[in-house]
Amino acid sequence: MRAYSIAAIPADGIGPEVISAGCEVLKAIEKRAGDLTINVTHFDWGSDYYKKNGVMMPEDGLKQLQPFDAIYFGAVGAPDVPDHITLWGLRLPICQGFDQYANVRPTKILPGITPPLRNCKPGDLDWVIVRENSEGEYSGNGGRAHRGLPEEVGTEVAIFTRVGVTRIMRYAFQIAQSRPRKFLTVVTKSNAQRHGMVMWDEIAAEVAAEFPDVEWDKMLVDAMTVRMTLKPESLDTIVATNLHADILSDLAGALAGSLGVAPTANIDPQRRFPSMFEPIHGSAFDITGKGIANPIASFWTASMLLDHLGEKEAAARLMSAVERVTKAGVLTPDIGGTATTAEVTSSVIDAIYSSNT
Ligand code: NAD
Ligand code: MN
Repeated sequence: MRAYSIAAIPADGIGPEVISAGCEVLKAIEKRAGDLTINVTHFDWGSDYYKKNGVMMPEDGLKQLQPFDAIYFGAVGAPDVPDHITLWGLRLPICQGFDQYANVRPTKILPGITPPLRNCKPGDLDWVIVRENSEGEYSGNGGRAHRGLPEEVGTEVAIFTRVGVTRIMRYAFQIAQSRPRKFLTVVTKSNAQRHGMVMWDEIAAEVAAEFPDVEWDKMLVDAMTVRMTLKPESLDTIVATNLHADILSDLAGALAGSLGVAPTANIDPQRRFPSMFEPIHGSAFDITGKGIANPIASFWTASMLLDHLGEKEAAARLMSAVERVTKAGVLTPDIGGTATTAEVTSSVIDAIYSSNT
């Protein structure tokens, strides 16, 4: 019997709706496997916790999470708490405290989902975006002087280190190498930003020499949005900075049909700390409590979590159940259907039990 302990942090808005759906599905995976135990411990951290306690998570939060095998995270953000508090109070401290420097975002068009691009066939869009997740534009480095005065100045200084860029580049080349096409696109803005971005280009070339079997090219981030939209089949694995990949992966999610299906993993490749798995989408307060949040991103996220734990068979079984359900047209409104969160969830659970793989 293999046993894993998962820390669930559903947090805000539709986070609890999609994470509880994901936990039901994990339960089914556990039962279907028979030789697998998945123990989930819930943490009530987030905006409600903040309103009661003045902090998004307890001071020893990271210490509480450290013993877990992985973290399953919902979303943060509430209409009455500033976004920089919710983000910097919970999600970012976990990513940074556990040095989850690689953010991995697979995107593909699931069967049964009609993508917004007219000529895009399902196989055309099958990408993994690797986002630098520990430094860059989100280092929190900057300041404001002369607050409120006409001469006020605000700075937001991106920090790129040789260690930080080299390790994310190496990780991206490894992912590219593990995929059939063995092709990596390195994204920067090194024409206009001539310091850290040029360093990215140089380090990319250095690391590329370690991977002679991986083909690679470079793109400027603005041109990249065009290539993603007009030539999706020309891309496979993509690596970009924290900010650039944040933006490109939202675009990728939309091109694949909806943010509601897009998963992500915040990985510590050295496995010193638990990695964190979450849907890309936010707390979506416009649909909170309506029972129509798409749980697919949360299920795909759970599949990535299982894969990270080494449970390849369970991970594949979960994803194939999801694909059978989308193919059968059991879809929430964001992807053109009329199903509820609960209906999609029970269909996926049925598909897990009825699978013969
Ligand atoms: P959002 O991702 O919450 O929602 C954007 C749009 O997509 C909304 O119309 C929403 O209804 C829809 N959507 C998102 N997920 C969906 C799902 N699973 N099913 C169906 N529809 C879905 O982004 P936003 O509206 O810009 O932000 C809302 C809050 O979430 C803000 O406070 C923001 O800071 C926060 N946020 C958090 C994260 C995170 O926790 N990782 C990410 C993005 C935004
Ligand atoms: Mn984002």
